[in-house]
Amino acid sequence: MTRQTGTLTDGEAKTYDVLIVGAGFAGLYMLHRLRQIGLSAVVLEAASGIGGTWYNNRYPGLRCDIESLLYSYSFDTELQQEWKWSERYAAQPEILRYIHHVADRFDLRRDIQLDTRVSTATFDAERAQWKLATGDGDMFIGRYCVMATGCLSVSNFPFADQIGAFDGEWHHTSAWPHEPVDFTGKRVGVIGTGSSGIQCIPLIADQAAHLTVFQRTATFAIPANNAPLDPAFEADIKSDYDAWRDKNRRGEIFGGGDLGWHGEGSKSLIISALSLPAEERREFYESHWQRGGAHFAGAFPDLLVDAEANETAAQFVREKIHEIVKDPQTAETLSPQGFPIATKRLCVDTNYFATYNLPNVSLVDLKAEPIECITQTGIRTAAQDYSLDMIVFATGYDAMTGALLAMDIRGCGGIALREKWQSGPKTYLGLAIAGFPNLFTITGPGSPSVFTNMIMSIEQHVDWIAHCLDYMRSQGLQVIEASEEAEENWVKHTAEVVSGTLFDRADSWYLGANIPGKPRVFMAYLGGVNAYSEKCDEVASTGYEGFRLT
Ligand code: FAD
Repeated sequence: MTRQTGTLTDGEAKTYDVLIVGAGFAGLYMLHRLRQIGLSAVVLEAASGIGGTWYNNRYPGLRCDIESLLYSYSFDTELQQEWKWSERYAAQPEILRYIHHVADRFDLRRDIQLDTRVSTATFDAERAQWKLATGDGDMFIGRYCVMATGCLSVSNFPFADQIGAFDGEWHHTSAWPHEPVDFTGKRVGVIGTGSSGIQCIPLIADQAAHLTVFQRTATFAIPANNAPLDPAFEADIKSDYDAWRDKNRRGEIFGGGDLGWHGEGSKSLIISALSLPAEERREFYESHWQRGGAHFAGAFPDLLVDAEANETAAQFVREKIHEIVKDPQTAETLSPQGFPIATKRLCVDTNYFATYNLPNVSLVDLKAEPIECITQTGIRTAAQDYSLDMIVFATGYDAMTGALLAMDIRGCGGIALREKWQSGPKTYLGLAIAGFPNLFTITGPGSPSVFTNMIMSIEQHVDWIAHCLDYMRSQGLQVIEASEEAEENWVKHTAEVVSGTLFDRADSWYLGANIPGKPRVFMAYLGGVNAYSEKCDEVASTGYEGFRLT
């Protein structure tokens, strides 16, 4: 099956075994694995550089909220032993340096085509191949297509049609300039207090003459307690790295990413939050708060299924906000109400709440005075005009389905993915879609994805796809397609798992609620990474149960 890389066949189209879209962590590892099994592949990337998330999002304060020693590839022993992270949670420039290191180390660049945005992907059933086209008219052909297009790679920019009115400088956190942005002496407005907002606000406040934060929904955030990585701790983890990675894969490290906490002995309790006396429970939350990190949500197993238990954790965080923020009214506005803690992405911050004690920072509550429009000089709310020199939009992403639906993807009989997913995404295992043979999605909707250490989930999906394609070749098979029945059952199962939780009580991006008109469907699989990967392995070991292979 191996074809020559870039063979010119169909007119001007280049032909490969596999077309990969996206050069983030997923696309890069997919290319490496395909080369290992002897398949030709090309990576098509819209941006001018590799790295995906870590190339496009360069706003000040961006760092991962999974510990660096785990937010990294595990597939190569020497790579993971040799690379040295400087901090407990790596910042964006260091993660991007790491991605470049990996690309050079495994000689990946020669099969990556940058500045190449795929606009259409069409399955030719007769020839059993995918045709991908760019807006510039370039065409690529492959037997298989792997969408490594990312869960959070398409910006949500609700003010896009108004920004032309503004005379000042503006930036969206998801498409940050490559040159440093200078806030010195400027009146800056930040719209949005999700993960990106709470990361950049403290750093902008350090420089700006005045920072006005426009908040629609208050955010639960837990301190990162970031620190330089202790060499003794690093050596300790690296002495048994594979075992730690395995624990991570089995879901034994909360959220897939808190090594130190686990290393001290698992401190999460396997009892209800309500079974402890109030004072003891508070001390327990306090120890989690001091340790820092998103594992806070896993302090008790019932926090995401029992509203009363959840409220004990939510109230603890609100009290913390009131302790940190000196002005009681500001503290109250910053205290989230009306949705359970961790049912929107639980943020991990550095000095976020304390920033509101600075004299040059003010908070606007958009629930009380909604934004009416962007003006020539700044932002107009229902209450007043705010004059600004710069606006930063931290308004997030069209998550999980955004990048896939931005393309016109057509499967058997010309069916459009946009049509098929009109009432929400449907996949088998988040990996494949009925009616779209030979198409794979890495960390697609219906897989654990954004609820895990994403690199771990990416590696699991890439390895599964590589095994599958190797199997196809060994059996002389050319087409693999998820059956409607398997897909329906999986969609039903993912919905059942969510229905036992509190997640539908928040208007989160997990549910598509941040995008007007997007169907309200919970898009990730919540059954746990261990159960999920066991299911994937079982499907593979039974000759790809739930798929039709021809
Ligand atoms: P991406 O890195 O998103 O790469 C996808 C690539 O596909 C992009 O380069 C994009 O340009 C390209 N692409 C998309 N559509 C097309 C097209 N039509 N044609 C060509 N190219 C296309 N995860 C964690 O586990 N821990 C964290 O702490 C964490 N922090 C994050 C912080 C931010 C601000 C964001 C946005 C995400 C964060 N994530 C985090 C999630 C992060 O996206 C993943 O960890 C990981 O980087 C995803 O890699 P990927 O390769 O799947 O996707």
